[in-house]
Amino acid sequence: MIQTLNHVSEYKEELIYPAICRAFDALDIEKDMRPGLKVAIKPNLILAKSPDVPVTTHPLVIKAVARWLNEHGVTDITLAESSGGLYNAEYMGNIYRVCGMKQLEPQVRLNMDFSAKTVNCPEAFANHSFHIITPILEADYVINICKLKTHAMTGYSGGIKNLFGTIPGLEKPQLHYLWPDIKDFSRMLVELAQTVNPQVTVIDAIDAMEGNGPTGGTSHPLHMILAARDFYTQDYFAAKLMGLDPMNIEMIAQAVTLGLAKPDELKLIGDPIPDNLTPFQVPDSKKLDFSNYLPGPLGKIFAKFAAGVLKSYPQLDDNLCVGCGKCAESCPAHIIEIKNRKAVFKKKGCISCFCCQEMCPMKAISVKKAL
Ligand code: SF4
Ligand code: SF4
Repeated sequence: MIQTLNHVSEYKEELIYPAICRAFDALDIEKDMRPGLKVAIKPNLILAKSPDVPVTTHPLVIKAVARWLNEHGVTDITLAESSGGLYNAEYMGNIYRVCGMKQLEPQVRLNMDFSAKTVNCPEAFANHSFHIITPILEADYVINICKLKTHAMTGYSGGIKNLFGTIPGLEKPQLHYLWPDIKDFSRMLVELAQTVNPQVTVIDAIDAMEGNGPTGGTSHPLHMILAARDFYTQDYFAAKLMGLDPMNIEMIAQAVTLGLAKPDELKLIGDPIPDNLTPFQVPDSKKLDFSNYLPGPLGKIFAKFAAGVLKSYPQLDDNLCVGCGKCAESCPAHIIEIKNRKAVFKKKGCISCFCCQEMCPMKAISVKKAL
């Protein structure tokens, strides 16, 4: 279970490329390469945000991977992503432009095929099938390049969570609605990860996000790139680097239980773990919930209590809201309306998925506890 860690002090091509070379050498990625190989790169482009803020995968990390592929004879490379909003040419064209992806052309093809196909899952899966974007399914080889962040709903966003962006556009909120409980939603994420099963995962943690991630948090640079074939153990490792308890992140805990993540077999290659790491701020939605730290029955009793009084809900700052409607578009429970150019939340029906907070470009939505 080789994990690689390479220090990269800042976003400069001449620093990132050697780090990718060292990581891919350690993982022996070269042996997978052949002329004609069709590669899909799955970035995190959740929102149209400049690469200067740690919301999306930095284009220079993708550029370094594409350069490595080119130098190993691979030229058929497609950037395949479905962002948080719509999945069409206009929406994704804007995402590519704002997120700095245009500089990747012509080495990388920015996907413009917005179709998706149904993939059946093995019988044991709770999700009998997934609808997945075509360029991922048509690739021979998938490289998952995510951003390291905290996350209001799942607590952590890395390799497993990034693959949720293989579900087309507004079908993502539908899955939130189908699986509103964090345990079920996490199981769905793990099953989706098993279905897509990327060959390599690179985590861009040169700059990372803490606090109200995945879009409304603040910068917490780790100055490192993590790469691995085994992205389940990688998520366990990365969460620990952030000062989080991986077993308190439901999707990682499930990956451990299923034997997908094997922290006991972790072998680190590359630079040492810095000894001056500071813990990441957790999202407001996760504050006060310490049920997982209490032993057995006490934890269960507290969890029941917490489910009511500590449940988190979105709260709007009217002064920041510009009435763009992106929250309403992404709300799986359809409880947000735009009236007089402001978002209005209905009182009942919220499943606390925080898709609205995630998609708000103005940071107008915060989290409040019922207590
Ligand atoms: S809350 Fe945010 S996403 Fe919703 S309408 Fe206002 S500005 Fe747009
Ligand atoms: S209001 Fe926000 S948190 Fe509640 S269901 Fe809708 S998107 Fe999810």
